[in-house]
Amino acid sequence: IVSRKNQPDSTVIKVKDTLVGGKASIMVAGPCSVESYQQTREVGAALKEAGVPILRGGAFKPRTSPYDFQGLGIEGLQILKRVGDEFGLATISEIVDPRHLEEAIQYIDIIQIGARNMHNFELLKAAGETRTPVLLKRGLAATMEEFLHAAEYIVSRGNTQVMLIERGIRTYEKWTRNTLDISAVPILKKESHLPVLVDVTHSTGRKDILAPCAKAALAAGADGIMVEVHPNPAVALSDAQQQLNIPEFNKFMSEVKESGLFK
Ligand code: PEP
Ligand code: MN
Repeated sequence: IVSRKNQPDSTVIKVKDTLVGGKASIMVAGPCSVESYQQTREVGAALKEAGVPILRGGAFKPRTSPYDFQGLGIEGLQILKRVGDEFGLATISEIVDPRHLEEAIQYIDIIQIGARNMHNFELLKAAGETRTPVLLKRGLAATMEEFLHAAEYIVSRGNTQVMLIERGIRTYEKWTRNTLDISAVPILKKESHLPVLVDVTHSTGRKDILAPCAKAALAAGADGIMVEVHPNPAVALSDAQQQLNIPEFNKFMSEVKESGLFK
């Protein structure tokens, strides 16, 4: 179903008043984790100001260590919705357990399925039973075929509103957190009709190369970009090293827009 052979026209997904996969490029931004109303609100206000339509923020965090901050859970989704409503932003958050889906979709406009759960077939099936748009992240070591099959798990259950996002893969390279596989963009655009985004933050883990990587993604045909923004990254409860502060985010936005690649 996700193959372009099956559907030559690109899928366009309507999220609130925003179209993903249409003529305009899309920016998704927000903190790694929702930590408090105040923290989320500061980012929401900055997004509104910058004209960014979709606010991200994790509430169920798939952390490497069980002793690290695990997220605020449903309360985090409620904060995200409150801020989204306040600024007219659509919201996206990762859901890790099929049992949370029904309640979660009361608060979020897009369900994120994270890299670690791309192979969680029961979660994919459950997301496929909803009619809420899904942002599916590429697994840490997933091939293009596995990625598209994961999307197929969702659409085959009737939820055709799936967006794909390249977020870097594991390689031997240590100077970036992951390796941004830019070739995934034109391949996915060619093989599938689904919108394709690139998460420049998790793929690089480096604030200093986000703008060139975003430009490369857009030049390669990406429909949108995801980036992490926090009011005070130094005290962030997750991914403190890689999040942009608000002035850095504004600079990033202008650099990407000035390139003329952000349509
Ligand atoms: C995230 O976007 O919050 C996240 C955890 O990313 P990934 O699943 O790509 O590691
Ligand atoms: Mn993160």
